[in-house]
Amino acid sequence: MNAQTTTLLVIGGGPGGYIAAIRAAQLGIPTTLIEGEELGGTCLNVGCIPSKALIHAADEFESATRYADGSALGITVQTPTIDLARTTAWKNGIVSRLTGGVGALLKKNGVHVLKGWAHIVDGKTVEIRREGEEPYRVGCEHMLIASGSHTLELPFMPFGGPVISATEALSPDTLPKRMVVVGAGYIGLELGIAYRKLGAEVIVVEAQDRILPAYDAELTNAVANSLKHLGIEVRLGCSVLGMNEGGTAVRVRTSQGEETELAADKVLVAVGRRPRTKGFGLESLMLNMDGHFIKVDDQCRTSMRNVWAIGDVTGEPMLAHRAMAQGEMVAEIISGKERRFMPSAIPAVCFTDPELVVVGLTPQQAQQAGMDCISAMFPFAANGRAMTLESKDGFVRVVARRDNHLIVGWQAVGKSVSELSAAFSQSIEMGARLEDIGGTIHAHPTLGEAIQEAALRALGHALHI
Ligand code: FAD
Ligand code: NAD
Repeated sequence: MNAQTTTLLVIGGGPGGYIAAIRAAQLGIPTTLIEGEELGGTCLNVGCIPSKALIHAADEFESATRYADGSALGITVQTPTIDLARTTAWKNGIVSRLTGGVGALLKKNGVHVLKGWAHIVDGKTVEIRREGEEPYRVGCEHMLIASGSHTLELPFMPFGGPVISATEALSPDTLPKRMVVVGAGYIGLELGIAYRKLGAEVIVVEAQDRILPAYDAELTNAVANSLKHLGIEVRLGCSVLGMNEGGTAVRVRTSQGEETELAADKVLVAVGRRPRTKGFGLESLMLNMDGHFIKVDDQCRTSMRNVWAIGDVTGEPMLAHRAMAQGEMVAEIISGKERRFMPSAIPAVCFTDPELVVVGLTPQQAQQAGMDCISAMFPFAANGRAMTLESKDGFVRVVARRDNHLIVGWQAVGKSVSELSAAFSQSIEMGARLEDIGGTIHAHPTLGEAIQEAALRALGHALHI
């Protein structure tokens, strides 16, 4: 049997794994990364990047469609059409450029990349099995599990035929006339809105009594209004029972207990993701688990010495930037640096229309944590830049301690607010107070002025409201 040894062995080349490998190699640690599918993982291939590409294409198409009826801007266009094959090819081009870039970065930094599925033999050995080839063993001093997550399937409505996951929804060959989306979470709403903008009739079915149950209602109300405006029907408190016999409709039970059928050419199931912990020998390590996730401490150490885990496989929030931050940290710890994973806040962004951003604590969360806080919001209706972007809905909200004005949370809803998340995170991570943000000159005209105005409003002297 072929064999090699290395200091750090990374299983999985997603955002967590590839960042860990690059940083480790930069620090002079001999590193091997094993990837069973494509470098870049879920995020680059079938997640963050392709979804944002499709959302952008859908936004552009929807604007053009609106202009076909004439517009206040004075723009009129002929009825636009969209060639989905070209849209998908454009999206695939972005994915290839980015995944190719990851490969180049790994190579440039001297990471040894092996293609194939890693099977864990023990805490220091992995076997790569490729069809028709002799198994290949890699021995290591440190093993980092960055195997990510996979789509959750509904057992009574397995993927196949009209029932699709986000992966298939991101590469449409034709546009379905009617699409039912199961789950009003991140994927269901981001892609449901995109499909509606592309021209499909969309119905979203959600088990709970509100959309985006993880976000506070004041924020999600703006998204709920937008869904109505876009013509997306939302069925809340509904349980999905499966497809009808002909595979042409989804059977659902309403909150009143009535059974009904929703006709659909495609059914996008987006009811969450599960950590990838099975099928590659991980069980044999008998690591402590935290439900379905691998249990890790604040350095991403598992219960076995020198076996580490990062990213989606370690729990919520299952976000790319959390995986990357953990990966960078583990590499530094292995190199001898003293690090802990103790971020003051991890930003969460939902790329719906309008977009949502949550960083740190909401007013309710601060109250539940026993903190005496003040909060203030500044509406985009009073922001000049928002008006020039034809967007007056939404707001920025700040939450700060009453005693010393330390900022503990930011929330925003509105057009392009995802780009404000960096300012929110920086202010919390750097321990900014309301006075720091209120006293910082923010460029005019920008959406960012709403950040300064929210801080000033919390201090009792906003200028533009
Ligand atoms: P992954 O990206 O899942 O990578 C794990 C890798 O490990 C995979 O490439 C897999 O093939 C490989 N692997 C697994 N087991 C083995 C094995 N035994 N041997 C070899 N290789 C193996 N997050 C955001 O922050 N922002 C977004 O906008 C966003 N949008 C998303 C949109 C969609 C549609 C989806 C599905 C997800 C989205 N996410 C988003 C979530 C984000 O993709 C994940 O949080 C992120 O990819 C997790 O990174 P990871 O490195 O932990 O795992
Ligand atoms: P999610 O957890 O965001 O939403 C799932 C939704 O499905 C919830 O509202 C839940 O109540 C509902 N649901 C569950 N079972 C149901 C059922 N049987 N019938 C009807 N509704 C049901 O999950 P997701 O949208 O699949 O996304 C998975 C993960 O991927 C997210 O949690 C997030 O970590 C990541 N993601 C992030 C982004 C981003 O950062 N912008 C975008 C997409 C995905």
